[in-house]
Order: sequence, then C-alpha cells, then structure tokens
Amino acid sequence: RRSAPARRKTENAEVEGVRLTHPDRVLYPQQGMTKLALAQFYQSIAAVVLPGLIGRPLSLLRCPEGLATECFFQKHPRQMLAERVPRIHIKGKTSAGDYVYVQELADLIALVQAGVMELHPWGSRVDDLEHPDQLVFDLDPDEGISWRRTVAVAHQMAERLTDLELTPFVRTTGGKGLHIVVPLVPRAGWDDSKAFARALCQRMADDQPTQLTTNLLKAKRRGRIFLDYLRNGRGATAVASYTVRARPGAPVAVPIRWDELTVAMAPDRYTVDNLRRRLAALKQEPWAGFDKARQPLTATLLRAVGAT
Ligand code: ATP
Ligand code: MN
Ligand code: MN
Repeated sequence: RRSAPARRKTENAEVEGVRLTHPDRVLYPQQGMTKLALAQFYQSIAAVVLPGLIGRPLSLLRCPEGLATECFFQKHPRQMLAERVPRIHIKGKTSAGDYVYVQELADLIALVQAGVMELHPWGSRVDDLEHPDQLVFDLDPDEGISWRRTVAVAHQMAERLTDLELTPFVRTTGGKGLHIVVPLVPRAGWDDSKAFARALCQRMADDQPTQLTTNLLKAKRRGRIFLDYLRNGRGATAVASYTVRARPGAPVAVPIRWDELTVAMAPDRYTVDNLRRRLAALKQEPWAGFDKARQPLTATLLRAVGAT
C-alpha cells in the first residue's frame, strides 16, 4: 500500500493542465520511469515532437500498466480517453470509426494519461486525408543482418530518391531498423503513393535479391533486409519522430542527419535518458529542411520507377 506522502503527490500531479491519475505508476521498470516522468518528458521536448504528430490520425499502443503487463494496439479508442482529445470519423474499406489526433501538447499529455505508450500517425493529415504528405520506407533487417549492411542499404535508397530529385530524411526507430521519410506536396493519392514506394523498393530488391526483399513472408525475409513499402497505404502508420517506444530502456525514434548514419549509430541509440543531451548539443534540427523539400509525386516520377 502507498504511503500518505505518495498519495498526496498523486493528487497534485498535473501536466499542461491535464490531471494524471497514478502519476507514480512505473511504466518502464528498468529505469523506474513513471507516467509523470513520461508526461514531463514530452512537455520538455514539445517543440520537436509536435510537428510530426499534429493533425494526423493515430493508431495507439496502449499499455495501461506500463511494460510490466500487456500492451494492445487501438485504432478507435473509447474507454478512458479524455473528451478533450480531438477525433475524426474515417471510413475504411470494411469498417469505419473515430480516430484520435493531437492538436496541441495537452492532447498528447491526455494520451499519456490514458496509458498510450506509442503513437503511430498516418502519412496524411485530417484536413486532406486522401493525399499523403510523406512517404515512409521502413527498413527491417532480419536477425543476423549486420548494422553496417542496413546503413549501406539506407544510403543506397537515399541515392535513388535523390536521383529522382526527391529529398530523403532518415530516423532511427528505437527498434531494429530505420525509416526513410520523403516529404511530399499532398497531391497524389494513396494508391499512387504505395505503387511508387513498392516499385522503388522492388527495383532495389531486383538488383540484390540475396540481400533485399519486398516480400512480407517470413521465409523470404530470412537473411535479408525487408524493404517495407506497406507503410504507404491508406490507414498504414509509422511511429512518430521523437516518440518513445514501449520497449525496455525507453528508446526514442529520432531524426538524424545522413552524415550521422554510420556504423557508429544504432537504431536504439537514443532513449528518454540521453535524448535531451543530444537536442541541447544540436546546432540545427536534423530535419530542418523537411517542409521546404516537399515535392509532388508526379506521373513522371511514377513512370521513372516503373510504377505505371
Ligand atoms: P523496427 O525498426 O524495430 O522495425 P518499427 O517501428 O519500424 O521498428 P515495424 O514492425 O517495422 O516497427 O513496423 C513499422 C510501423 O508499422 C510501426 O512503426 C507501426 O506504425 C506500424 N505497425 C507495426 N505493427 C503494427 C500493428 N500490429 N498494429 C498497428 N500498426 C503497426
Ligand atoms: Mn521497421
Ligand atoms: Mn515494418
């Protein structure tokens, strides 16, 4: 049972005007990191985490008791979510429902309050749902693939995208791989976006079939890097930049510069414990040019990769 002082602390925990229940609940046992600490972490990095989240429908990974017990993905949360968090009704092929999104820091804190431990946004925004404003190439190395190899493939993909006059950006995932993100002027629809990503990945896989695959099947992925183009379909998601993963050590998905992507980097290099040191030392946000680099996905580009 809790002591009296701990209970008093509980009653007073408020971040960004959002009242936290169980603020001293330990979410990350390894570090003893609490719900209050997670909320305060997001508050302290609001300026960098919000741009990648605002106005995007979210899939949520909820872990009501932290990492200690089970987590579950949720697209249409009902229970325990504050009224304040904005929602948008979206019709899918087979179902329809309300997705939540973040408009300001307090919404993000309200999600933390509701036990959300990962945030996975769509590649489009609520004001223009049918036109993705970014492409995500998700590099998934099979176990046993060296980090050196993954780094090399990421640079190869960047070169291909640059040759097409697109501007690729890269982030660590906090897990095992990397995401390459290309900012788009939202003009093409989901089908073209996925077709483009698929065709580009397929060309790379065709050149190095023993090293790379676009096949989702486990057996085909063995010993290879899976070039996961499926993040570009309607309703698909990729974890948001500067958000924390529900994995031991509290790793964070972090935008980096291309010159930082070397063997010295690691996909789980940054955590809640060391991220602020990185941010303080940075002269410029690594993805500073992201919005200026937007290009439309044109018919010419689709043809160039053989997607049409
Ligand atoms: P890693 O680097 O370890 O691969 P990741 O975030 O890229 O980390 P993936 O398994 O490759 O993990 O998944 C890519 C993205 O697909 C995730 O960031 C997430 O947004 C989405 N995703 C994966 N699994 C699910 C799931 N079960 N439900 C909803 N979205 C998922
Ligand atoms: Mn991945
Ligand atoms: Mn994947």
